[in-house]
Parts: sequence; C-alpha cells; structure tokens
Amino acid sequence: MTKLSNRVLEMEESVTLAASARAKALKAQGRDILSLTLGEPDFVTPKNIQDAAIKSIQNGQASFYTVASGLPELKDAIGTYMENFYGYTVPRNQIVVGTGAKYILYALFATVLNPGDEVIIPTPCWVSYVDQVKMVDGVPVTVQTKEANHFKATVEQLENARTDKSKVLLLNSPSNPTGMIYSREELQAIGDWAVKHDILILADDIYGRLVYNGNEFTAISSLSEAIRKQTIVVNGVSKTYAMTGWRVGFAVGDSEIISGMAKVISQTTSNLTAVSQYAAIEALTGDQSSIETMRQAFEERLNTIYPLLAEIPGFEVIKPQGAFYLFPNVKKAMEMKGYTDVTAFTNAILEEAEVALVTGAGFGAPENVRLSYATDLDTLKEAVRRIKEFMEKN
Ligand code: PMP
Ligand code: GLU
Repeated sequence: MTKLSNRVLEMEESVTLAASARAKALKAQGRDILSLTLGEPDFVTPKNIQDAAIKSIQNGQASFYTVASGLPELKDAIGTYMENFYGYTVPRNQIVVGTGAKYILYALFATVLNPGDEVIIPTPCWVSYVDQVKMVDGVPVTVQTKEANHFKATVEQLENARTDKSKVLLLNSPSNPTGMIYSREELQAIGDWAVKHDILILADDIYGRLVYNGNEFTAISSLSEAIRKQTIVVNGVSKTYAMTGWRVGFAVGDSEIISGMAKVISQTTSNLTAVSQYAAIEALTGDQSSIETMRQAFEERLNTIYPLLAEIPGFEVIKPQGAFYLFPNVKKAMEMKGYTDVTAFTNAILEEAEVALVTGAGFGAPENVRLSYATDLDTLKEAVRRIKEFMEKN
C-alpha cells in the first residue's frame, strides 16, 4: 500500500523554504553562497520584546496552556493595534491568535471552505495560498494579473473568474512577491464587488507597515462598514517586528468565522506558544520606535539595490512600493543565456554566481525571479554584482 495520502502526494513543498534550505545546505558544505531567498528580516527581535518574553518565562506565566484562541490581554493588544492602524475598534470575540499568519490562513480555509468551494487568487501570489486551499479540498482559481498593471487584479478580471462556487477572494497588498500596493480606489471597487456578490475578502495585510518612498497602505477593511463585514483581516508580527521565529499570527473579523477558526485551532495546535504571546503583547503595545528604524533600513536597501538590479542585462524590474522583495522579469535574460525554464535559470545563478534566489514558478510567474532585500546592503550589492557578472559572461 502507498504510504502517503493523495493530499500529500499532490502538494508542493514551499519553494521559499526549500530554496532557503538549499542555500543553507550548500553554505554548510563550504560554498560561498549569498542567499536572497527568504522574506525574513535580518534584524533580531527588539530588546523590549525579548525582555517581556524572558520575564514571562521567569515569573511562570509562560509555563501554561492559554485559552486556545489566545490570551485575552493579547486580543486587547491586537484591538489597540487595530484602532491605531486601521482606525476602527474590534471586540475580543472578533479576534483569534495562532501559530503564524501561515497557520491562521490554513485555519481560515479549513473554517470557511467546503469541498469544491472556490478561492479567487490573483497571481503572481505567495507560494502557500494555492496548496493550503487544496489541502482542505477547496479549489484555487488563479487570476493572472498583468505586469503592465503592476500585477494588480481588476474588477473585470475578478468578475470573469467568478462562478456560483466562488466563496473567497484573496488579497495581499503590499504583495509578496511583487511588492505592489493596491490604491484606495482600486480597493474600493474590489470591495464593492465582493459585497455585491457576497464573496468573503481575505485581506493578508502582513506587509502593511512595510511601505516605502511615500507610498501608502490602505486597509480594504477600513473603507466601509459593508466591506469590513465582508473581510477577514490576516496579520502578524513576523515581518514588522522582526519576529519570524516566534510564530505569531492573528485574524480579525466576523465573530462566527473567528470562533470557527478557534475550534480548528483547539483541535490542532492548541494555543500559540505562551511565551510568544507575551512577547507579542509587548510588540504591539510597547515602544514602536524600532519598527520605523527597520522600515527605513529596508527603504534604503531598496533605493540602493533597485537601480543596480535594473542595470543587469536582460533584467526588467518595476520598482516595488512595499514588502521586501524585488521581482524582475527575466524573460530576456533567459533568452540571452539559452534558458526557457525559470527554475533552471535560477539554479544556474545559484551554481555559477553562488547567489540563491527564488524561482518565479512557485509564485505562478514563469518569467520572473524573486530577490528578498531583507538582508544587509553589502550582501545585496555583492549578490547583484555577481548576477551581473553571470549575465555578462558568454
Ligand atoms: N502571508 C504572506 C504574504 C507572507 O509572505 C508570509 C510569509 N511569512 C505569511 C503570510 C506568513 O507569515 P508568518 O507565518 O511568519 O506570520
Ligand atoms: N513568507 C516568507 C517568504 O515568502 C517566508 C517563507 C514562507 O513562509 O514562505 O519568503
């Protein structure tokens, strides 16, 4: 008998995590690999957050299970965060906490999707959405956005993808991998469309605080009462607070969906690790100055590295507005080097230039590669220099 379920046999491994693991393994063999794979801040978690966590361990608070859906104090901290950055108040029963925004997304899909229900996903999109939807027998319906429209879906495209099985629209702005942000007007039109057709909006706002050069993030859930009721916000502290390892994610929205997610969490992970919850309370309510310092560092890296990348022969890149990724179109570069497959091209850059990138294939973008600039400037400059050298070599 085959050991594995069809579910696992049909699933792709996360290409971001796989690319990062491969870079680490090659480094461990002594290769001088520069890794621009993971979307993970290179900063350590700010000291005030570390201290709050240590305190909760030492005073015994972190020794115990908490309520599966999260500590009431953490829900209040999230409520304060929502008031400050989204401009509306949220009661505790509309908030659930879980093990990273990644698991929160899974718990949400498990909560709202019946087999065959469709999730409309504008692509290029983050690598985990499609597989997570499939894991709970939902149907991902990808909508190919146009690079000329900065990889943003239009209402017309969404309407073309809509069927009587459409249940959820996934919106990720600023986007991983493109770094693009939907404008207020675009979101208003999409929000009104979702309300009209009773489609749940899943707003993955995880990069909402990481915006650069005067660009602004608009939360779709803040646009009207009707759109807010139609939206589940997914967010977390990983990116904004340099806390990827702590695994804190949360969702905010309709109380019935939120309690459904709490039920899924109670039967799978139980509560998010208690020490991480105490750390997250300090992150969301304590001194916020470190996050602006980190944001400025990302902005400086983007502004330094973008023009250098744009100079590489065959690389065409739109300047991103947020998140920490560059997503060049490498169609011409592949032609110049004799490649037709972007994953093979990415592997050649790894082997020959010793720079690890993520293939666009995992994001539904067969002509692009993703570089994360959540790493120090010297590494970034050297990585781009090596890629340029690779391209200029015959
Ligand atoms: N959404 C997007 C768009 C992401 O890029 C990530 C990557 N970390 C996540 C969700 C999940 O974040 P985490 O699980 O670290 O909270
Ligand atoms: N979201 C980050 C990335 O895209 C972290 C890895 C992952 O969870 O995919 O690189």
